[in-house]
Amino acid sequence: MDASKFHIVIFPFMSQGHTIPLLDLSKALSRRGLKITIITTPSNALSIKPYVSQHSNIHLREIPFPKTQGLPEGCENMSQTSSPDHLLSFLNATKLLREPFEATLKEMCRHGDPPPTCVISDSFLGWTNASCHSLGVPRLVFNGMGVFAMAVKKALSIHQTHKGATHDGDIVDVQGVELSFHLLRRDLPRSLRVSDSGISEFFLEAERSDLGSFGVIANSFVELEKDHVLPLESLYGNGTRTFCVGPLFLYDLMEGDQNEIGHNGPNPSFKWAEWLNSRVKGKSVVYVSFGSQAHLRDEQLDELAYGLELSGEDYIWVVRTKTWRNPTNVVSGGTKGLIVREWVDQKLVLALWAVGGFLSHCGWNSVLESLASGVPILGWPMQAEQHLNAKYLVEELKAGIGLESGSAQDGKVVGREEISRGVKELMRGERGRKAREKAIELGRIAKRAVQVGGSSYKCLNEFIQSIG
Ligand code: UDP
Repeated sequence: MDASKFHIVIFPFMSQGHTIPLLDLSKALSRRGLKITIITTPSNALSIKPYVSQHSNIHLREIPFPKTQGLPEGCENMSQTSSPDHLLSFLNATKLLREPFEATLKEMCRHGDPPPTCVISDSFLGWTNASCHSLGVPRLVFNGMGVFAMAVKKALSIHQTHKGATHDGDIVDVQGVELSFHLLRRDLPRSLRVSDSGISEFFLEAERSDLGSFGVIANSFVELEKDHVLPLESLYGNGTRTFCVGPLFLYDLMEGDQNEIGHNGPNPSFKWAEWLNSRVKGKSVVYVSFGSQAHLRDEQLDELAYGLELSGEDYIWVVRTKTWRNPTNVVSGGTKGLIVREWVDQKLVLALWAVGGFLSHCGWNSVLESLASGVPILGWPMQAEQHLNAKYLVEELKAGIGLESGSAQDGKVVGREEISRGVKELMRGERGRKAREKAIELGRIAKRAVQVGGSSYKCLNEFIQSIG
């Protein structure tokens, strides 16, 4: 393969959960000698630069973020939206990136050295498929989700069979996707259950506009979701291929430039690292975090605080809500629990010896990161496709357990007793023990997948050959 012939243009959606895996992919491709150009907006470029700075093959091209009403000043990333009301304004603003994106791509087609071989763009930027098509550049879709969730969403957006299920407990018939368990209406993303907002329309439009893409890049590994790869390809049509090349963050650990885990250990100046390292018993701490987007009301945070205390387990809990005050009289940083108010390096936390369970919203990155470290999950899905991820994790992979009520769908508060029971089961119960065994097994498979000769490693090579 002559790597100098390749120029891959990457256009991530502006949120951490979507951008970081694409940066990991960029670095994995750059290590194979391919030229990469990442298109993004100015403030996102600032946070991307340090992440890729050691790679001279990776270039950044900035396009302006559109000025839009209804968003806080300077907001260019979904994590900077301070309320769920901003979501639609943010999503709609990203559609206005079309003109500058097309102008940039056109310019690269004329003067690029070499011109773009393909574009990999986020599924939320579905309109890029038409842009690439008009310029004759193959477009591959990247989706922050797993293959199972992608297939379910794609099938329902095409066949609309979920409309036959009207109550939350009704079984949904997912045409084209075989399931070993029942999928209920309550497991679907809100955008498929409720069609009263522009958000549902946005996602439906995005799902439809990327049909017929040249390929799908999936942050997953074949062994994890093999039954859903072919169905997903059939749903896309036109010979679209799915390349399962993940977990993408593992390439850095195996090949790369961020090799902190297992060598020098975490930076001891972080209080959380010091606290975790001071635990005497391995696998004894439950890590609690709900990703970069979820907004929990104070009432829910209160119940969680009491629930964690009631469980009697040690915990480290990342709280994003700046204004929330802990109503329990427990002092954070004592022997039992630590509340962290800043961003932690989650992959590192999960890889530490002390951590034995994860109370998670089941964002796909969190699921992959937990499994790769052999840590079982207590699933508390909140939004987007997280209910699908949780269901798959619990029912199919059996590497996690669920909350008794399933979740906090549509604002329902989960009580302290339920939280406490779930945490105890995860850390000490029989179902928790079995889930841990399964997670450890999947973690081994995940690491093998990205090594030379592994399934994801091969798929990454097949992807490169397919566009060459
Ligand atoms: N994350 C992190 N530190 C935090 C919170 C989140 O490193 O304090 C990372 C986490 O490791 C994951 C991403 O942010 O890679 C969150 O992605 P996920 O898909 O789990 O959830 P989302 O934020 O998209 O809801």
